[in-house]
Amino acid sequence: MPSASLHDIPFEPLGDLLESEGVNRVHALPLWRVLYRGASLDGLPPPLRRWMASEVGEGKRFHLDRLEVEDEIHSEDGLTRKFLLRLEDGQVIETVLMGYEGRHTVCVSSQAGCAMSCVFCATGQMGFVRSLRPGEIVAQVLHARRVLKRFHPEARVRNLVMMGMGEPLDNYEGVMDALSILTEERGIGIGPSKITVSTVGVIPGIQRLAQEKRPYNLAVSLHGSTEEERGALVPASKRWCLEELVEACRAYGQETGKRIFIQWSLIEGENDSIETAERLVNLLQGINVQVNLIPLNPTGGYDGVASPRGKAFQQVLLDAGMPCTFRQRRGIDVAAGCGMLKAERGPVGP
Ligand code: SAH
Repeated sequence: MPSASLHDIPFEPLGDLLESEGVNRVHALPLWRVLYRGASLDGLPPPLRRWMASEVGEGKRFHLDRLEVEDEIHSEDGLTRKFLLRLEDGQVIETVLMGYEGRHTVCVSSQAGCAMSCVFCATGQMGFVRSLRPGEIVAQVLHARRVLKRFHPEARVRNLVMMGMGEPLDNYEGVMDALSILTEERGIGIGPSKITVSTVGVIPGIQRLAQEKRPYNLAVSLHGSTEEERGALVPASKRWCLEELVEACRAYGQETGKRIFIQWSLIEGENDSIETAERLVNLLQGINVQVNLIPLNPTGGYDGVASPRGKAFQQVLLDAGMPCTFRQRRGIDVAAGCGMLKAERGPVGP
């Protein structure tokens, strides 16, 4: 039987596990402190310590997740750090830690590779390998937190964006279990309202987030104002078409009362015209959104370029009363910007 990771298990189920192992479930709390608060094993209640000694570790029924650091690179300004982290099976994923204006944000991967094939995204270009387990997602944050302590002993990881490699809603359960663990106040304790799940537009996943009343922010990567415009950039739109996606966003907004973040990577000649901006305004009419414009970052497999008309595009939206901001560009020199994560060693040239 393959060994299970204790980092895969949210708090309540961890209590169930202990109970089924003959250990009092109240010991889930001291165990949680060891896993997520750096508490020492020495302080554990003796029955739990005995169970850990006999059942947890290499070659045993349970183990802990710890990602091996393959590489760490940082941007010239030192504010963005990209980690290449190796999973147990040798796959390499990427995690980015960004710190600016006193806020520290970690950008986390949900899959090794991605099946969505967005033409301008480096992860899309590499194809799909596999989904990550909850513990592998959580371990990225634990690593980022350790590194942050190195530079800013007082600082905490406050914000989390599921915008690294992969499509989070294509790994729904893995991501939701990871977020339950990461938000648990007795452990890492990231505020649910500081977490953003970004999706290419997986409609069933968006519906499920609303049904299950998940307290996270939702970002939807739209990139096109017609089926044709979007289809040329986002192949997944053949499966979840624009019209239905917009309706799913409308329903999500009504059911949750939350604002949705719309992501739009601006590409010259593809999705940056004034007409496109006007169509976008019409398309999103009546939905509580904020549009986030991302200047296209260069990737090896795509020859489109960043739009020089971003300001004019933004103005159309603002004039229509639609909140619209530019994503701050971070870590471009170390290929840690949006869509540049590809588990390559070292920087990739533009
Ligand atoms: N799969 C999720 C998370 C992807 S990354 C999603 O699609 O939302 C987060 C954002 O970066 C997405 O909006 C994605 O479309 C965008 N992006 C990908 N490649 C990019 C690039 N080369 N330049 C700018 N933005 C890019």
